[in-house]
Amino acid sequence: MDSRYAKYIKQTMKNGLPIIVIEGVEIPSTVEVCHLCRGKGSHVNPDIDSHGITGSEMEELGEDFREAYSSGAYDIECVECNGNKVIAVINHEACNIRQLALVDKQMEYIQQDNEERYCRSRGIEY
Ligand SMILES: [Zn+2]
Repeated sequence: MDSRYAKYIKQTMKNGLPIIVIEGVEIPSTVEVCHLCRGKGSHVNPDIDSHGITGSEMEELGEDFREAYSSGAYDIECVECNGNKVIAVINHEACNIRQLALVDKQMEYIQQDNEERYCRSRGIEY
């Protein structure tokens, strides 16, 4: 499954840095360069290339498409960092029990949601 379709724990910006807040509780986290866009803040729309574009497909799509593609015309704001280029990563060691419980609950919910979305997307494709 394309990671760009997956949902993540929502982040909020505070003083220019991403933080994680679950049900009103701020979760201890560290800041890392976004691994999805590698700090670019944008990436090609997954609707365009989520399955990868092969050389022969590129050939068929023509030069106009190739130019637009490489110039970033199909780029969208990064779905993970929302264009902020950095993301908050949960620091489990710094979490108390209540915070860990919130994180676990949220992760479970997100995983379930991702699986549902994945099944739905397969249902449409096949
Ligand atoms: Zn990003």
